[in-house]
Amino acid sequence: MKRQGILIIISGFAGVGKGTLVKRLVQKYDRYALSISMTTRAPRPGEENGREYFFVTKDEFERQIKENGLIEYASYCGNYYGTPRAYVEEQMAQGKDIILEIEIQGAMKVKERFPNAVLIYVLPPSAAELEGRLRGRATETEEKIAERLSRAAAESEGLEQYDYVIVNDDLDECECELHGILCAAHFTPGQNISFINELRNDLKKFQKGETTV
Ligand code: 5GP
Repeated sequence: MKRQGILIIISGFAGVGKGTLVKRLVQKYDRYALSISMTTRAPRPGEENGREYFFVTKDEFERQIKENGLIEYASYCGNYYGTPRAYVEEQMAQGKDIILEIEIQGAMKVKERFPNAVLIYVLPPSAAELEGRLRGRATETEEKIAERLSRAAAESEGLEQYDYVIVNDDLDECECELHGILCAAHFTPGQNISFINELRNDLKKFQKGETTV
């Protein structure tokens, strides 16, 4: 049975630690590739163009939309964010499990287009812990923190649309759970439909009474 790459969506409230989680997975296992998004938001201190994001102007982003260069895009807290198409398609063709770390509106668009995509939401152990982590980042203004926390409350309404939720309390444990879910996701019928159809076809001869002996 040939291993097909899966499309993985990881979402989570701002500050929940999903970025760290995903980076660990990609560093540890060769099978995962991480999509780098395009955004119109300004880089945070320490972020590099082409590493965390491709930082572009609004004009450039809108040009990408027109030219169908993005698999999905969404507006989040006043900025555009989108997934460049070429890299994702290239990695999937190579059988890699490609991870998109995106918010919920984009996740729903991807689910429509790729019904076999696996959608995972990373949760904090509590609301208080989320606020603490977001403040601990120290890269955001008080206004931005409040905006992101309010956005978290709104996003929490859509959690049932995901396939799995995991709690990021202990990072090692959470990484292990995430990897476990993704390993299992390879074994759904939808993910193995070419093999199933081939086998079904070969089995038909038994209904006609044909055997090899
Ligand atoms: P941040 O500004 O904190 O890096 O990201 C803000 C939100 O945008 C996060 O929830 C992140 O997952 C989401 N995001 C990042 N890249 C993309 C993307 O390409 N598409 C969509 N829809 N959301 C994204």
